[in-house]
Amino acid sequence: MSFTLHGIAVSSGIAIGHAHLISHTSLEVAHYVLPKQFLDDEIARFDAALLATRNEFSSLRSNRPTYAAAEFDAFLELHQMILDDPLLSVAPREMIANEYCNAEWALKTQTETLVAQFDEFEDAYLRERQTDVTQVAERLLKQLLGQPGHQPPPARHDVETILVAHDLSPADLIQFKPHQYAAFITDVGGATSHTAIVARSLNTPCVVGLHHARELIREDDLLILDGEQGVLIVNPDKLILAEYKLRQSAWELERKKLKRLRTARANTLDGTVIELHANIEKPEDIAEVKENGATGIGLFRSEFLFLNRDNLPEEEEQFEAYRAAAVGMEGQPVIIRTFDLGADKQLKGAERVANNPALGLRAIRLCLAEPQLFRTQLRALLRATHYGNVKILIPMLSSVSELNQTLQFIAATKQSLDDEGIPYDREVKIGGMIEIPAAALALNVFARKLDFLSIGTNDLIQYTLAIDRTDEEVAHLYDPLHPAVLHLLSHIIVTSNKLGVPISVCGEMAGELAYTRLLLGFGLRQFSMFSAQVPSIKQRVLTTSLPEIAIFTQKILRADDPMKIRELLDRLNA
Ligand code: PEP
Ligand code: MG
Repeated sequence: MSFTLHGIAVSSGIAIGHAHLISHTSLEVAHYVLPKQFLDDEIARFDAALLATRNEFSSLRSNRPTYAAAEFDAFLELHQMILDDPLLSVAPREMIANEYCNAEWALKTQTETLVAQFDEFEDAYLRERQTDVTQVAERLLKQLLGQPGHQPPPARHDVETILVAHDLSPADLIQFKPHQYAAFITDVGGATSHTAIVARSLNTPCVVGLHHARELIREDDLLILDGEQGVLIVNPDKLILAEYKLRQSAWELERKKLKRLRTARANTLDGTVIELHANIEKPEDIAEVKENGATGIGLFRSEFLFLNRDNLPEEEEQFEAYRAAAVGMEGQPVIIRTFDLGADKQLKGAERVANNPALGLRAIRLCLAEPQLFRTQLRALLRATHYGNVKILIPMLSSVSELNQTLQFIAATKQSLDDEGIPYDREVKIGGMIEIPAAALALNVFARKLDFLSIGTNDLIQYTLAIDRTDEEVAHLYDPLHPAVLHLLSHIIVTSNKLGVPISVCGEMAGELAYTRLLLGFGLRQFSMFSAQVPSIKQRVLTTSLPEIAIFTQKILRADDPMKIRELLDRLNA
């Protein structure tokens, strides 16, 4: 049966391929009957999986990083208790012996019984614990199926494969890089979530917020994904398929044409030079940065070096990664952000259960709370400055005291390198991200103390409009054109320019064609975006005359009616 679903478009391109479902809490397993002589082996298999899961919990507890939330222990303890509940640890063994069934089926059946018991609780807190039961059962099931942890399933190589999941964390997605999926789709997620950002950086079409896609789609269904419009067509008929194949070829042709602009300078029609930089997650991304003609790295999200691993990267490993980026960019600027962990980018084993993770111990707050971790990174970063044009960027600044503490950390780290005779760039530039309205409104003091500023529009919008960027339920309220956002953006850019402090935008707005002229009109001259978008934005810059657009951008700033703002923006982009 053919049907269409609509979601939030987060990474463009058209993909046509077969569905590959990634399992989540639904515990889908086959049921089969075993001959009597295999029952002991099956029980032993179950016991081994149980033991491995127990060991997994113990190792998570003993390797818990020092800054992991205190609740993390309680959370692990609860999961260990659930694992030891006789309904999960004993009843499946009995069921295998009595009903001659496979271990997965026994586990699934007993889990459902346990979940049903939790359903009966009057107390909402206890009722919600059924999610924990399912998560524990899923962990055990993964051991049984031989896929411990959260390893992604490899894509099939014989056909184009589209990964269908209920949810994917940024850490999950970064692991898919070598697997060559044609596209990703998820039931949940917002357009500027880190999952979406990683999908864009993988240059892979992606639509999120499809609600029930994971339930409605079956393994191997033929899918068409339009990452521009946010449309998913399941089991299309021949005509639709032919139409989308044409659109896909046209899209690819257009991208090839744009790549011819690789070596052109990004100047406006009136001759103003615009810098187009790229955002990266790992030094390996540099090949793509160059292929797309970016003239620097505007944001190296260093926290991705910390994800998908059981240990923390040591100074030497970090230093090698930062140096590789510095050397790879051959003297062009490489802005490395100190790790922005927390919220939707959690270390393995340190998943926090804070009530409002986006408002909690994240980014620079976490760095300052974990001096040892921060010092290690600063040493690695400073050492890398000796090998290229490296600058350091501080995320999520909200108060001057945070900034002062950070600058003291940097000064102390420089001193320790001096004492050891280790070379670094003494003039290294330190910048700050303006992504909290408080910092935007109190910009002068940040501008005075820092060498450059970079606007993180993803968070600036999230915190200005009080909208969780990862939550698809409020995604429709996430509005870069909200007058409050526009005024903040204009204020930051105009003030920085007046004070002579270099300013760029490295949030997703920088890579959206719809906003290029608007930002240019506000006075922005430096953009940083996912690499694949550089050619399109360059083309837009090349066809823009700054004197001509000035009038529109001022009118947009004065307008307060959303319809009027959009109408003016359309005229600006015409
Ligand atoms: C931003 O907030 O716009 C930004 C660039 O940082 P991140 O998306 O990593 O939070
Ligand atoms: Mg941010």
